Amino acid sequence: MNSTVMRKEAVYVQTFNYHTHTKRCGHASGTDEDYVKAAIQAGYSILGFSDHAPYKDVPLDWARMSYEKLFDYIQSVNRLKEEYKGRLEIHLGLETEFYPEYLEEKRKLRDKVEYLILGQHFTDPSAKRSFFRPSTDEDILQYAENICRGLDTGLFTYLAHPDVYVFQQEEFNETCRKAAHIICKKAEETGTPLEINVHGILRGKHLFQNGEQYYYPHKDFWRIAAGYNVKCLFGIDAHNPSQLTDLESLRKAEEELSDLGLQYVKEPLSFR
Ligand SMILES: [Zn+2]
Ligand SMILES: [Zn+2]
Repeated sequence: MNSTVMRKEAVYVQTFNYHTHTKRCGHASGTDEDYVKAAIQAGYSILGFSDHAPYKDVPLDWARMSYEKLFDYIQSVNRLKEEYKGRLEIHLGLETEFYPEYLEEKRKLRDKVEYLILGQHFTDPSAKRSFFRPSTDEDILQYAENICRGLDTGLFTYLAHPDVYVFQQEEFNETCRKAAHIICKKAEETGTPLEINVHGILRGKHLFQNGEQYYYPHKDFWRIAAGYNVKCLFGIDAHNPSQLTDLESLRKAEEELSDLGLQYVKEPLSFR
């Protein structure tokens, strides 16, 4: 379907996306320029690259780029930024977790790019346990705690997929609820926008006690978020250029949460 038509039908139209990966992370495909072309085709006006950031002492080929690739990443995005000037506004960012003992490394990364987004994927840098597997209550509370400490640093422009910890949980239990309140309260306190992750739509729905829901964006989480003074924005979390032209998933994400009265980021983000 024509992208203009799709965008007109959308409940809420967002033409910026700050969550885009590249093949350097080991689990994404396409060239950097393919993502740029797809973004233009889909009617985006702003595209932010935010590939998974490296860790000095813990290389993980399948999860994130290495420091050796970081320089090439920065050069490539900056080159595209120049080349596509006037056609697409391109920004250079990175997505990374927060663990208190890595504060200095994160500060240095922040200085190399325009923005960092916080995406807490694992319990620790070596990925002992992933939040893309069923998580214990203890790990979920630790997840929320690390996010709070991360947001307190002021290094992060927004929080990606805050509800990813619901992935593969049997139920949105008391701990899930508690974590949602902790995260949303901290987002409100620090003025950090929360991302509704469109990639989660591709992972399908699951039957919870109160009906079929996506694991993420998980409606019970966003119902709690709606009770806080926080702003939300959509993130495509593209690991393939075709995810940028997949406006149907964006529409589904919008539709899923459209009755909650969430406050949305209406203007492009600005970076300090
Ligand atoms: Zn990824
Ligand atoms: Zn992520």
